[in-house]
Amino acid sequence: MYEGAIQDLIDELGRLPGVGPKSAQRIAFHILSADPADVTRLATALRKVKELVRFCTTCYNVAESEQCRICRDPRRTDEVLCVVEEPKDVVAIERTGEFRGRYHVLGGAINPLEGIGPDNLRIRELMARLSGGEIKELILATDPNTEGEATATYLALLVKPMGISVTRLASGLPVGGDLEYADEITLGRAFEGRRAI
Ligand SMILES: [Zn+2]
Repeated sequence: MYEGAIQDLIDELGRLPGVGPKSAQRIAFHILSADPADVTRLATALRKVKELVRFCTTCYNVAESEQCRICRDPRRTDEVLCVVEEPKDVVAIERTGEFRGRYHVLGGAINPLEGIGPDNLRIRELMARLSGGEIKELILATDPNTEGEATATYLALLVKPMGISVTRLASGLPVGGDLEYADEITLGRAFEGRRAI
């Protein structure tokens, strides 16, 4: 539709999740008319996120050093481990202020239709952490949808024989939804009301 650089930018923006063609065009023209210093900051942030951000070697949350901020925090308990699908779920749970344990980020959920099985998730790494013997409770905070439930069921079967208490967040979360869309109070209550499975 347009020529050269502006169309390239529209195309790139349009490949981002949740950005339709109209939004891509609007953002591109916003950038075109923006202050050069602002655009430089945006470009730097884009470059830096790829250069500096990596995954925590312990929990696979996003981190800027070997371990993430949460794994490095000595005030948190090592006895409770909360399993989530994505780093954004860590943020959602941290916002509730209800949890003082550690996390394990799976990198997704079991989804046979998309060819994602247990081997594609960080389950082997989870089992290695659990075999350390320090963890007393495993909270399964995968999303309240089909894939999240299937993943929780799979993990519960795997972990329960190890003598670790396995809990799932209480109902009340929007079924079929994504953990990150639950408001803080609902998610906080679901955490408090977690039950053994
Ligand atoms: Zn970590």
